[in-house]
Amino acid sequence: MADDVDAPQYRRAPLPDGWRIVAPGRRGVPLDARRAEEPVLPKPEGTCPFCPGNEAETEETTWQDPPTGPWQVRVVPNRYPVLRATGLDVPAVGGGHVRPGAGLHEVIVEGRAHEADLVSYHAELLERVFRAYRERVGTFEDVDGIRHVSLFRNRGRRAGSSQPHPHAQVVGATVLGPEVQRRWERAREHERREGRTLLATVMGRELRVGDRIVEATESSVAFCPFAPAFPYETWVAPRSATGSLAGLSDEGLSDVAALVQRTVRRALRASGRQAYNLIFRLPPAQARHDAAAFWYVEILPRSGPAGALELTSGMPVVWVTPEDAAARMRALSE
Ligand SMILES: [Zn+2]
Repeated sequence: MADDVDAPQYRRAPLPDGWRIVAPGRRGVPLDARRAEEPVLPKPEGTCPFCPGNEAETEETTWQDPPTGPWQVRVVPNRYPVLRATGLDVPAVGGGHVRPGAGLHEVIVEGRAHEADLVSYHAELLERVFRAYRERVGTFEDVDGIRHVSLFRNRGRRAGSSQPHPHAQVVGATVLGPEVQRRWERAREHERREGRTLLATVMGRELRVGDRIVEATESSVAFCPFAPAFPYETWVAPRSATGSLAGLSDEGLSDVAALVQRTVRRALRASGRQAYNLIFRLPPAQARHDAAAFWYVEILPRSGPAGALELTSGMPVVWVTPEDAAARMRALSE
């Protein structure tokens, strides 16, 4: 049994707490090969609303960098928002099961080049993009009524993208989603018991064990988590990732941005995927100064939707061990 490298394992994840299945014997399932041949990027009809010269096709700019002259990063309200920016200040009514869908939803247009992606940005654009992330998260978290901010990028159709021009989305919601709630309860309980954040405990263990580390710099760490939900799932975090993204220094931000870029390149090359999600796991807005608060980035190469076993059991099935994934990523230059 000890020699059987393909033996499946249940592994317990800390965030949110629960079992997952690592089944490396399933890596040869032929469906993956067919999926890889489908076009990666969406092909919407008409002109691209995010390309320079087409600014009139989007909502009014809410923020841009540089502030004047030709923009490099441009932020606009989402034309088809999930939530509406009216009623943010309407207090919640206790006991009800329905509330107005109030919230904020913006698009961060990353650069003027339609064909680019985060993996190809030059250093200056990469830094501008991450500064925009920090700025919009901070602005949303300061808005009265906003309880949690989601920041994410979808790249490729398999990752849920509908526009090929590189962009991120930021959503501020006036309720806490169940995932955020469960994670926060666990984070708070851990900090009260251990006197340090749950992420500090997880990262400390990973740095001691070492075999799931992809890259560690002086201020940040990239590693494959012990119990992943996706093949080649990788987390990137500053070593002192307390509070929320908005509190990160310029220097820390540059370091994390560069590490995220290098790690996305490695994760895509090692997994053979081109579609991926980049997710910022942020604490509830009102708890961002709590000692238990932390944040990190998840890189999730995507091949397809969840299978039915995951839907019935709530246990994701992953076909590569995080130890193998990290070793393959380490073996690549970037
Ligand atoms: Zn474009």
